[in-house]
Amino acid sequence: MTSARARRLARVQERMEELGIDVLLLSLGADLPWLTGYEAMPLERLTMLVVPRGGAATLVVPRLEAPRVEEDPDVFRLRAWSEGDDPVEIVAALAGLGGAVEEVAVSDRTWATFVLALQATMPAGYWRPSSQVTGPLRAVKDEEEVEALTAASAAADRVAGQLLAGDIPLIGRSEREVSQDIGRRLVAEGHQKVNFAIVGSGPNSASPHHEPGGRRIEAGEPVVCDFGGTMEGYCSDITRTVWTAEPTVEQRNLYMVLQEAQAEGVAAAVVGATCEEVDGAARRVISDAGYGEAFIHRTGHGIGLEEHEDPYIVEGNRVALTPGHAFSVEPGIYLAGRFGARIEDIVVAAAAGPMVLNHVSHDLTVVEV
Ligand code: ZN
Ligand code: ZN
Ligand code: ZN
Repeated sequence: MTSARARRLARVQERMEELGIDVLLLSLGADLPWLTGYEAMPLERLTMLVVPRGGAATLVVPRLEAPRVEEDPDVFRLRAWSEGDDPVEIVAALAGLGGAVEEVAVSDRTWATFVLALQATMPAGYWRPSSQVTGPLRAVKDEEEVEALTAASAAADRVAGQLLAGDIPLIGRSEREVSQDIGRRLVAEGHQKVNFAIVGSGPNSASPHHEPGGRRIEAGEPVVCDFGGTMEGYCSDITRTVWTAEPTVEQRNLYMVLQEAQAEGVAAAVVGATCEEVDGAARRVISDAGYGEAFIHRTGHGIGLEEHEDPYIVEGNRVALTPGHAFSVEPGIYLAGRFGARIEDIVVAAAAGPMVLNHVSHDLTVVEV
């Protein structure tokens, strides 16, 4: 029986064939763990998986990291290098020097130090980012990956449920304190790592990626909470906006528009629809309500081993959704200097229709604690 990783490698090599890439070099980033289960440390010592188009893959790692690598003979062999060895030479030799290698794909996040050294040693004709090979493959999740994303979303949901239930005190606390509280809860619910916990209160709710700071949350304002972490390698990401007192009529109306936009975005996320159509469906509701200028970001992003990856739900992306595409639908409306709101869920495209992984209510929720 072939493992999921061996199947991934076969698809990678097929795509290299299609694109005419001779060798794929994977270092930092999520492509490497996706194929090998091993994540490279961001060190000054080189770790690199060498995948020739037709041949066997080899993982070149510093000797001191080797004990952490689990060799998988179906996918790759291990080649540890010692202090004093030149890992760039080793990679170049494995890649096949001597004019045969014309096109190289290298991890998007490889240190420039190594890319430049490799380019000096392997004068290939054309270098491109590995995401051109792996992006569209990684974007389509297999069953195991969908299960992992579902479990991570469920854990994030439990924290969002605590927020809506008033179990996370807001009024009188600083955004930073609430952010740290949310982070602790993400870990308590099963995440190994907190990736972010945005808490934007009052006027800060109008800044989509607000850095939670010392501002104390007051009664009678919106609080945008956008948080996620990594659980068994896969990411969660959810946003809920709550109010610390009954909102004004204007805030209520804006939130109703947002609820409808988010629902329309999800409904549009059917197999065969393009990413830009999903973006358009959410955006249309907001534009029709006169808030078009206030929706200042794309509708969503893919999610998997990384919190942001392909496919991006944005105008101009004509990639059609296929079963297994996993992404966020997260429209927001931001009135600069005044207030804003966002609702975000993770969705997986499926033959039976969009599968929403988050189940916490979108109803306007007043949390008076
Ligand atoms: Zn974001
Ligand atoms: Zn988010
Ligand atoms: Zn997101």
